[in-house]
Order: sequence, then C-alpha cells, then structure tokens
Amino acid sequence: MSGVKVDQDYEADLVDPPIWLSAQAHQGAVGQLKTFSASPVHAYLFVGPRGVGKEEIAHLFATALVCPERGCGTCENCRLATANKHPDLITVERTGSSISVDQARLVSAASLNRPKMAKRLVCVLDDFETVDEAAPALLKTIEEPPPDTVFIILTESVTPKLVTIASRCVEVRFGRISDQEILDILLSDGVEGELAQRCANISRGRLDIARRASRDSEYFKVHEFFRAIPQEITSNGNSIILATDQILSALDRATQFVTELQEQEAKEHDELVKQGHSSLSRGDLLQRQKRELKRERLETLLGGLASLASYYRDQLVSSIDSPHERLASYNKQQAMQAIEIIDQFTKVLDRNPNETMLIEALFTRLSGLV
Ligand SMILES: [Zn+2]
Repeated sequence: MSGVKVDQDYEADLVDPPIWLSAQAHQGAVGQLKTFSASPVHAYLFVGPRGVGKEEIAHLFATALVCPERGCGTCENCRLATANKHPDLITVERTGSSISVDQARLVSAASLNRPKMAKRLVCVLDDFETVDEAAPALLKTIEEPPPDTVFIILTESVTPKLVTIASRCVEVRFGRISDQEILDILLSDGVEGELAQRCANISRGRLDIARRASRDSEYFKVHEFFRAIPQEITSNGNSIILATDQILSALDRATQFVTELQEQEAKEHDELVKQGHSSLSRGDLLQRQKRELKRERLETLLGGLASLASYYRDQLVSSIDSPHERLASYNKQQAMQAIEIIDQFTKVLDRNPNETMLIEALFTRLSGLV
C-alpha cells in the first residue's frame, strides 16, 4: 500500500512542483511554465514591464529546468540554483548601458559547454531590450543552440531589433499586477492590513515598489510629502523652494535604503567571485548599481508624482459630490488642470532632465492654480 502512496505523491509533484509555491503572482504564466518544464524547448522570451517580478519567475523556471523533478525544492540541484550557485545556471546581466558584443560572445561560448551537474544548461539573459550591436551574435546562438541548452530571455518589450530573436522563442507574457493581487501578496507576507492597502495604492502595479514601501517608511514618506504639497505651496517663491528642498531630501532618505541593499550585494558578490560562482567584475557591478540607483530615484520621484496626481483626483471626485455648484466647478477645473500639468511633467521627467529644476517648475505651475 505504501508503495502506491509514494507513487501518487510523486504524480502530484509532477503536476505541481513545490518550487512554484513561492510564486505569488502571474499565475497564468506560472501555469504555462509548469507545463513547459516537462519538455522544454530551446528558448523562452519573457515579455513584461519592469518591476513586476519577471526575474524571480525566470529564476524559479531555471531551477525547475535543472532539477530532475521539475523543481522539488529540496535536491542538491534546487538548493544550489536557489542560492545562485548552480554550475549549469548562467545569469547574464548587462554591465554597461546595453548587452555588449563581448558579453554576447561570452554567452555564446558558455552555452556550448556541456552541463556539469544537471541534464541541461540554462542561460538567463536579463534586460534584453538593451541589446544592440550584440543582437546578431546572440541570434545565431539562440537559433542553433546545443541540444541541452535552454535560454530564458527577459525583456520589457519586443523592440524591432528583437523581432527575429522573438520569432525563435516561446513567448511568455507578464502584465502589471492588479492592486488587489498586490494587496493579497502583502497580506500573505504578513504586512498589517491598513499599511498593505496604502502600499498597494501607490504601487502602480509593481510588486517591488509595494514591498519596498511596506518595509521602508522613508519611501512611504515621499508619497506623503507629495500628497501634502498642495497645502504647502503658495504664490510666495520661498514656499516653492522650501517644498522642493523637502522633496529632494525625502528622495535622498528613500534611496538610502537601496544604497544599503547594494552595499550588502557587493559584499555577497565578493564572496561569489571568491568561490568562482560569478565572473562579473567589481567595477561592472558598481557601474550597474549606480545605474540602478539612478533609476530607483527616478522611479521613486515618478511614484511621488502619481501620489500628487491622486490627491487632485480625490479633489475631483469630492468636487463632483459637492452641493455648492459654483465652488464645485471651480475646484473641478483646478483639479483637472493640476492633473494635466503633473502628467506633462511626468513625461518630461522620464526623459531624464534636471530633477531640481523640474520639481521647482512643477510646483510653480501648480501654485499658479490657487
Ligand atoms: Zn530539485
């Protein structure tokens, strides 16, 4: 009897390998990947916006592909893959502004290696939307990989340079996560109800932002400062300078959290290099971290602007409900203009100009509406 039971358990594991229990969102994509892991093709393209957790899912999929039981979560393959130390799992991140031709050559050479431990070699290529001159070199490798190599390619979108590569891959789509899903995930992480709701509201569909807000009160304060801006700014120029300073120092404090995480990552990286598990140089790591920090600051600022816009949207809703018609139409017009102005500045800011100058200009425009 006990033999039958073991077989049943084994069958159940095949249907739902335990490694996937830690995947909390994108259940559609996860379902597809569980099936793909039974008989993988040579290349997968994960397409979806930044910050929705494509990297984590790619790592779980890679782990499932090196485990003989498609992700049992307990074997040596799973253990090493989870700790980023599996010899047959190669992760390539760009070191400059794009994946370089040299990096592409290294990937091509590495993909020709025979697997050392698992039955296949898995190559995860991140930030693939940045591929430029390196595309032709990689295309050849991805088109004709050795039979036991699987590529997992991550990109924000299928750019014109990626169309040919995309046509050689099985595409897996990732969308933004709904506020409700984010709320559920935060609650299951153990975040207290009201805080979880507030974090979900400012997440803009990004689990990383929601999680960060739930752990880092400074990050949250940026949003609170932004929402308070309409009460702070007047036509007096001093109030604008003061509010800008307040926002800039809130941004400094919020990004301090990232700096600390990066210092920790650099320490762990030294250890991985010493053990021969990473070939990324320290200089390249620091360069990547610098770029990430800059991006993080911009994302925090964009999130703050979204909070400011949400303040005006709330005003708009309450002006519609207001019994005082004349006052209501004045508030409504003001709120609509403010939302429009914030939207314009958000677009400009995303193109990376002078932060201080723009914040001041935005507050000046908004103060003119009073
Ligand atoms: Zn395993």
